[in-house]
Amino acid sequence: MSNSLDPYEMAVQQLEHVAKIMDLDSGLLKILKKPKKAIEVSIPVRMDNGDIEVFTGYRVHHNDARGPTKGGIRYHPNVTLNEVKALAMWMTWKCAAVNIPYGGAKGGVIVDPPKMSQRELERLTRRFTVAILDQIGPYKDVPAPDVYTNPQTMAWIMDTYSMYRGYAIPEVVTGKPLEVGGLEGRTEATGREVMIVAHELMKLKGEKAPTVAIQGFGNVGSYAAITAHELGYKVVAVSDVFGGIYNPEGFNPEALIEHVKKTGSVIKFPGAKEITNEELLTLDVDLLVPAAIEGTITEKNANDIKAKYIVEGANGPTTPKAEEILTEKGTIVIPDILANAGGVTASYLEWNQNLHREIWELHEVRTKLDKRMRDAFHAVWNLAQQKDLTPREAAYVISVDRVVQALIKRGLWP
Ligand code: NAD
Repeated sequence: MSNSLDPYEMAVQQLEHVAKIMDLDSGLLKILKKPKKAIEVSIPVRMDNGDIEVFTGYRVHHNDARGPTKGGIRYHPNVTLNEVKALAMWMTWKCAAVNIPYGGAKGGVIVDPPKMSQRELERLTRRFTVAILDQIGPYKDVPAPDVYTNPQTMAWIMDTYSMYRGYAIPEVVTGKPLEVGGLEGRTEATGREVMIVAHELMKLKGEKAPTVAIQGFGNVGSYAAITAHELGYKVVAVSDVFGGIYNPEGFNPEALIEHVKKTGSVIKFPGAKEITNEELLTLDVDLLVPAAIEGTITEKNANDIKAKYIVEGANGPTTPKAEEILTEKGTIVIPDILANAGGVTASYLEWNQNLHREIWELHEVRTKLDKRMRDAFHAVWNLAQQKDLTPREAAYVISVDRVVQALIKRGLWP
């Protein structure tokens, strides 16, 4: 993370900040600061050259007061237990923010996937699945893809889990390929819903055809651009890791996607002016959607940001110091745990679809998703207005309170 603070410490500090606003009981705060369970496993794998490598994996359940835990599995060389613990806690808040009956979890393996073959990744995934077999399950903990894991990874986990239990159990993971119970619309869900949330804000603010800059043009950024275009917004700038492009007349996202398919980047798109990622963030636009990586909006550039609204597609793009500066300036920031929760909400629909042995059509999925996201946005927005909170504080207050109420109703056993 570009923020030097340890991610778990940062997650705990955020929780402590909300606990103060809510005047939360200190005993309940103590429970919420710690994950319910964190396990570390060794994953021996026979590599293609015959050697054995041993990888380290983690699965963390933060809190299951509201239901089975939910969260992705990340394959990355920089995975640490504290990162996984922080991500698990954020999943608890994200699920509660959109009021889906899940707790939070996360998993990770310290591995560099681009250096491995598909066969090696399959053996690693299957062995990891067996190592955490008793931690996961449709009513216990439901993994999903994250950095460097994908629908194929989920299909291997589903297959391995099903082999051990003796029958097909698609509901043990989400983000699967359509052929094994995946959900129509799962791929577009996060980016599309980022923009559905943004649209509710634009309507409240009377913005008819806002200009938009989107940082990151991967899964989230590209679908956010398509949806913005469909809503009649002008997408004037986009970027990726190689740089950005700007055209005050706006882009057609479909043409841009074709260009990225051919060239591997948004840069050199015909008719566009090349800009840097830093320039994109400080463009004079109405709406800025950071949809790349964490920590791109910092105290160094916050003062120069001209957008009136920031809707976070990425996880953790705005540092706490940057947000203080933005709030002072009157910039409205719609937080990640609300704005990008369309992904986990789609996962929840996939799990439901599997549990009921149904197959839903795209229009049904979109209708259900849009409603949940709009309701969640308005609940956060109304609380922020009533209590004079930032949207992030309001989202956290709603989430933490939902988890706390579940803890209180369940009581402390024994
Ligand atoms: P992705 O890998 O598909 O796309 C990432 C994009 O960001 C790419 O265009 C890449 O070139 C660009 N990028 C990477 N580093 C950059 C940098 N330093 N500067 C500028 N651009 C950079 O990833 P994604 O799935 O679109 O995820 C993007 C963000 O959204 C991440 O923070 C992720 O955690 C978050 N998110 C994703 C989902 C989901 O369903 N995919 C759900 C919730 C949150």
